[in-house]
Amino acid sequence: MSVLVVAEQLQGRVRDVTYELISAARELGGPVTVAVVGGELGVSCEGVDEIVRVPVEQTEFENDVYQAALESLLAERQPDVVLLGFTVNSMGYAGAVAAKLGLGFASDVFAVSRDGDAVVATRAFYGAKVHGEVEFPAGRPVLLLLRPTVWPPAPPGGSPAVTEHALVPVASRARHKEFREAEKGDVDITTAEFLLSIGRGIGEQENIPMFEELAQKLGATLSVSRPIVDAGWMPNARQVGQSGKTVKPKVYLAFGISGAVQHLAGMKASETIIAVNTDPEAAIFDVAHYGAVADLFDVAEELAKLV
Ligand SMILES: Cc1cc2nc3c(=O)[nH]c(=O)nc-3n(C[C@H](O)[C@H](O)[C@H](O)COP(=O)(O)OP(=O)(O)OC[C@H]3O[C@@H](n4cnc5c(N)ncnc54)[C@H](O)[C@@H]3O)c2cc1C
Repeated sequence: MSVLVVAEQLQGRVRDVTYELISAARELGGPVTVAVVGGELGVSCEGVDEIVRVPVEQTEFENDVYQAALESLLAERQPDVVLLGFTVNSMGYAGAVAAKLGLGFASDVFAVSRDGDAVVATRAFYGAKVHGEVEFPAGRPVLLLLRPTVWPPAPPGGSPAVTEHALVPVASRARHKEFREAEKGDVDITTAEFLLSIGRGIGEQENIPMFEELAQKLGATLSVSRPIVDAGWMPNARQVGQSGKTVKPKVYLAFGISGAVQHLAGMKASETIIAVNTDPEAAIFDVAHYGAVADLFDVAEELAKLV
């Protein structure tokens, strides 16, 4: 089953999701081709058979350029499956390509498999309350947007063939102008290695400074569940979950978070999850590697003494 992966890049760097897409592509069999639009980026990984470069004059992502590149590649290559990240960039053009070319399509996919020549994609429905399998019969290409951080990144290596695909210059209707740094005070919880995450169990806004201080002492970044943002206690840049950020730190320490599906959707791929909750039935314990059925304030106090 031939798979075309479209590499995602930002400011001259391949984004991690690209390597995760390659792992997913291998699960479907292969051969695996990775398309790199613009740039001279190295995406050589175990399991990649070919890297096809599409030279374009634009140095950063633009919807029209990627759409034209993908349409042109599809016409020439006719892969069985196209994999893109479920990211802001892909959302800007993938749906248009699928609709225009009549491809099978699913977004926010977190598992893929084959049933004979059919492709089966698993995704969430109804605010992640239900998981469903979408089966695409063989016969026409399928374009899937895969949720980041679900697949392990493919290890570097391999010696894929490198080819070039010529594209008629594309006049973008929307131009990339500049990158702006996030406003001062905002943090990027998606890159933190250690997240101390607090939920409604902390009780009151007055308790937040105590956890900010604890996070600082522990060398952690403070993140939160949605009720803390909804209450206006912390900015939404700190929110983990389906309508917040997807994170994958080395350590995710959850204080007073019940583990609703919408929260788990954003953190369950964390390497080590430690949960503190007074309720032994809390769903967070289903994904936690270590858990303490305890009052979070007692645990916080003891932790603060240790550092
Ligand atoms: C479409 C949609 C999108 C959503 N997106 C998100 C999202 O992105 N992120 C998100 O987080 N939620 C999201 N939600 C909300 C989600 O459904 C839950 O309501 C929310 O995650 C609950 O947050 P919580 O665990 O902090 O609070 P609660 O569910 O109220 O849990 C608080 C927990 O703290 C424990 N606790 C209380 N006191 C203590 C104590 N002293 N010591 C230890 N434990 C204590 C309790 O036992 C309880 O388990 C979304 C909902 C919808 C419908």
